[in-house]
Amino acid sequence: MTQAPKDLTPDTIVEFLASIFERRGGEEYLGEPVTMGEHMLQGATIAEQNGQPDEIIVGALLHDIGHFTSEFGTFSMDDTEDRHHEDAGAEVLEQFFPTVVTDCCKYHVAAKRYLCATKPSYFERLSEASVHSLNLQGGPMSAEEVAEFEQNPNLKHIIAVRYLDEAGKIAGMETPDFRHFAPRVQRMVDAHCGRSA
Ligand code: FE
Repeated sequence: MTQAPKDLTPDTIVEFLASIFERRGGEEYLGEPVTMGEHMLQGATIAEQNGQPDEIIVGALLHDIGHFTSEFGTFSMDDTEDRHHEDAGAEVLEQFFPTVVTDCCKYHVAAKRYLCATKPSYFERLSEASVHSLNLQGGPMSAEEVAEFEQNPNLKHIIAVRYLDEAGKIAGMETPDFRHFAPRVQRMVDAHCGRSA
């Protein structure tokens, strides 16, 4: 297990994220025809190509970063195997990114459960692996859960990133690497942490 740096700062977080993509981006995204790195880069690239705002591009880029929790010193031997990667990711992001980005990560699984409950056509977009995990994640939301979820002020962004999550599973799609997005990510960190560029 890599010893995780526990002293990340606004000066080091982006380089650290870049290194995760470079060292671990090639890891398998279970059941999908793309690696973890390709998956997140594809979502961000599609968002960028469609002229989406920074929050959605960066949200898509980082939404699954919680799969690499062991990198951040938040991993514990007490973790059970089904530790929620969306919560782990949000925990890491929240000190450096605005809530809208953190929410895109934190609620990307909930968004799948939400869309399955509210948009019958959405289910057909899901990959086989995503249908499988949906069941483990509690299946479609109940009406009560839907009503509560809709209270989130970042709902639109969360849903947009969820669609990019589905879209970013294309075998062989070419994308730029993390370095392409790094300046955009750094600007967001600087703005959130109250630093001028
Ligand atoms: Fe994902």
